[in-house]
Amino acid sequence: MTRKVMVTGGAGFLGSHLCDALLAWGDDVLCVDNFFTGQRRNIAHLMSHERFEFLRHDVTFPLYVEVDQIYNLACPASPVHYQFDPVQTTKTSVIGAINMLGLAKRTKAKVLQASTSEVYGDPEVHPQVESYWGRVNPIGQRSCYDEGKRCAETLFFDYHRQHRTRIKVARIFNTYGPRMHPNDGRVVSNFIVQALAGEPITLYGEGARPAASATSTT
Ligand code: NAD
Ligand code: UDP
Repeated sequence: MTRKVMVTGGAGFLGSHLCDALLAWGDDVLCVDNFFTGQRRNIAHLMSHERFEFLRHDVTFPLYVEVDQIYNLACPASPVHYQFDPVQTTKTSVIGAINMLGLAKRTKAKVLQASTSEVYGDPEVHPQVESYWGRVNPIGQRSCYDEGKRCAETLFFDYHRQHRTRIKVARIFNTYGPRMHPNDGRVVSNFIVQALAGEPITLYGEGARPAASATSTT
């Protein structure tokens, strides 16, 4: 039987590649996105696919659909975007997680949260291991993203403990590739853009360890 899989943030950089992969595996894909940072052109090649459907929707509002699996990727990921409207960033992570978990609970769907290495904050441990709980500033300019993602992880594990919801949490580290915004301020894209332009590559801080407020990881 064909699985019905929902990808929130499906018009974004990672989400659009995930939609490609799920369609290639034979799934029905429902792509949900409010186009905050996502772009139509990321999914333009999928619009006429018979197993692909797009829904323009903000995950901070409830959504009632019938699905077997949910990949919750909706959230601006680069500092320049998530700091544009920090309150909306926190809402997207926290209320978005509640809505997707509520949907998973009702439909008994499996749900994956796209979390981030930023849950470790400005870490004292390198490389970060899962047993490390992190060192996060709760009131800084990056907190809307870091704390929003941490709270989303809490909700995922509490829905699992309280309602037996089938969850997965993936802490993604810096990813780069086709369809990412070239000038979105993330460290790898900064390096590549500067290298292609023949400019010096900027390392914040001393280069030995991340400076508290200046790093551009996601
Ligand atoms: P992206 O900005 O390209 O994609 C995010 C998508 O979410 C966009 O299409 C955007 O329009 C959508 N979105 C934002 N707010 C929404 C809302 N309220 N309702 C519906 N859609 C909304 O970013 P990305 O790099 O593809 O990241 C995808 C996910 O992976 C994010 O959750 C991000 O935090 C996580 N992540 C990415 C990286 C990375 O290196 N790319 C690293 C760690 C974590
Ligand atoms: N929700 C949703 N789609 C669903 C089921 C729930 O968007 O198919 C939302 C619902 O609006 C609620 C949230 O998910 O705000 C959490 O749902 P849950 O059933 O866990 O809690 P409750 O409805 O009791 O607040």
